[in-house]
Amino acid sequence: MKITIVGTGYVGLVTGTCFAETGVDVTCIDTDKEKIKKLKNGVVPIYEPGLEKMVERNIQKQTLTFSTDIKSSLPDSDVVFIAVGTPPDEDGSADLKNVLAVASDIGKIIDKYIVVVTKSTVPVGTAERVRAVIQGELKKRKLKIPFDMASNPEFLKEGDAVEDFLRPDRIVIGVDSERAEKIMKRLYHPFLLNNHPLIFMDIPSAELTKYAANSMLATKISFMNEIATLCELTGADVNMVRIGIGSDSRIGNKFIYAGAGYGGSCFPKDIRALIKTAKDKGYSLKILNAVEDVNNAQKEILFRKILKHFHQDLENRVISIWGLSFKPNTDDMREAPALTIIQKLLEKKARINAYDPVAINECRNRIGDVINYTKDRYEALIDSEALIVITEWPEFRLLNYKVMEKLMKSKVLFDGRNIYDPDELKEYGFTYYGIGRKTH
Ligand code: NAD
Repeated sequence: MKITIVGTGYVGLVTGTCFAETGVDVTCIDTDKEKIKKLKNGVVPIYEPGLEKMVERNIQKQTLTFSTDIKSSLPDSDVVFIAVGTPPDEDGSADLKNVLAVASDIGKIIDKYIVVVTKSTVPVGTAERVRAVIQGELKKRKLKIPFDMASNPEFLKEGDAVEDFLRPDRIVIGVDSERAEKIMKRLYHPFLLNNHPLIFMDIPSAELTKYAANSMLATKISFMNEIATLCELTGADVNMVRIGIGSDSRIGNKFIYAGAGYGGSCFPKDIRALIKTAKDKGYSLKILNAVEDVNNAQKEILFRKILKHFHQDLENRVISIWGLSFKPNTDDMREAPALTIIQKLLEKKARINAYDPVAINECRNRIGDVINYTKDRYEALIDSEALIVITEWPEFRLLNYKVMEKLMKSKVLFDGRNIYDPDELKEYGFTYYGIGRKTH
């Protein structure tokens, strides 16, 4: 089987590489020439554990090729995946310009049957719009070439993307033809050997499933962050409450950790896009509006605690930050809480030393050298009056108190992910602030 993946970002590259791993002949297309040049040389432009080795292996086996020219592979392909970005438009809706541009290319090029799959996260009705654009182009060419649409939303998590793709909890595919269903079933067969379900449904339901999944997860996070605020007001500890409720199998213990707010390339934009879809239909999604409000406030919660601790005066104080990416195991900083906190601290004229195991380059690309980046986590503590831990990278879990004591000017720790033991920190003379926990 031969497939083309258009859009070689987190999703397109992982999808293409994992299909190539099963022996499918894959070509990944992107308009970004620099990216394709790097990939042709086996250099993976994103940080994703396990991916680079797989890319290298499949380039060598010639199951994975890269190109900027969609014409190089589309005419021979059985399936084309659209995996381009769908960033938020000014009004919050998903910007479909890239998706529709690819649809137009497909309509201009195909000359035999193909299954066109939307893998990007797209609002209900997008597959129909893609179908109409392709049909429009075929009409201009005075051709009647059969093709089918399918919607195959992606649920991989950055940081675990390869593992998630190879061993998915479930694969959701929306189709409206038996021919497309058969082809998609064959393509995904190698990933189903561990009994993971392949769920076929109609196309609009598949499109909405992706948004509903992300909205549910974001709701759990914002709910727990609200409970954390209530814990602080009442003297309860949100970690205890989490363990207490998570042991109920109806609730479960995933995604109920209080923290510094959710970020990333998906949750914020997908929640806004779903709110907009509902608004366009004359309906207000009350829960999701609240989820977003709570999260916006939560991204500032550490800053507010810092400001209060230093009696509103941060001028010229050195503040250390551990963790810049929106979560561990990725260099992705899209909508990362760290960006909000840095901006707020700079407005108050604090001086920032920041360390992250992989996201420093990405941070520099976004905000430049307005803060000081350090090579290791302890260098970031030199002369510091407070440490803020924003991302829970495993290497931050165990603290070397002796070194910290030597380097820091005052021993204050703001734990944005509740990963430390407040009693232990107190023993070592630290002032500890968590999220939804007592301050020591
Ligand atoms: P990304 O920004 O990392 O990659 C998108 C790529 O598409 C870029 O390399 C860009 O150059 C390319 N592109 C844009 N227009 C193009 C065109 N006309 N032709 C060819 N290439 C083009 O994005 P991503 O994170 O991979 O996300 C892609 C889609 O998948 C989005 O809709 C996103 O919401 C969804 N998604 C993302 C994740 C995730 O964790 N990143 C998870 C599930 C779903």
